[in-house]
Amino acid sequence: MGNNRNYSKELESRIETFKKEGRRPKVLLHACCAPCSSYCLEYLREYFDITVFFYNPNITSESEYRKRVDEEKRLIAEYNRQIDENDFEGMNSDKDAGKIDIIEGDYKPSDFYEAVKGYEECKEGGERCRKCFELRLNETAKVAEKYGFEYFTTTLTISPLKNAAVLNEVGEEAAKEIGGKVSFLPSDFKKKNGYKRSIELSHKFDLYRQDFCGCSFSKAQREREKMGL
Ligand code: SF4
Repeated sequence: MGNNRNYSKELESRIETFKKEGRRPKVLLHACCAPCSSYCLEYLREYFDITVFFYNPNITSESEYRKRVDEEKRLIAEYNRQIDENDFEGMNSDKDAGKIDIIEGDYKPSDFYEAVKGYEECKEGGERCRKCFELRLNETAKVAEKYGFEYFTTTLTISPLKNAAVLNEVGEEAAKEIGGKVSFLPSDFKKKNGYKRSIELSHKFDLYRQDFCGCSFSKAQREREKMGL
């Protein structure tokens, strides 16, 4: 699926409006892992008051889940330390950066398996992933509404393997589902060298970078690819 919208430019244009209005909207940022969050947080913390929402019941095992959420918390602690110590060496953000909070969602893999039922055999990037995005972004929208956020969005658009048009469409539908009380912030974080920057930051902070997306199906697919199958 594709369309002519440039989600990266749409986000830039919203940011310009907020700057003119002299305000920092509250955004709930759904995060899939620390490497993908690294650039998104560096970029967004200049303009928004951010709370990360770590909600990923798709992750294949409890141990993998813990590794990813612990790295997310370590990254956020490092970004907040930079503010406390006014130490932005090697970062693109500076004194305008705001502190970041985190909310951890439920980790119930059965919710994921229920959501993708019937689509298990789809290839990565297909209908199974759309169902997975719907699960995670619908929950993000609900939590954003519950806690009075103005916006929500997701780090998932930083991945070159994920279709930004589908993610933005799913996000906008999730906002509609809850009656439009919270808006989905358009994004395509891979643009503006965002993906490249996330790799640099992952090295800088020595972040754990998994080599598969998250679910057991993507893990099995990666194993087959590694064996040349
Ligand atoms: S490959 Fe990634 S996005 Fe697709 S269903 Fe699995 S965890 Fe979700």
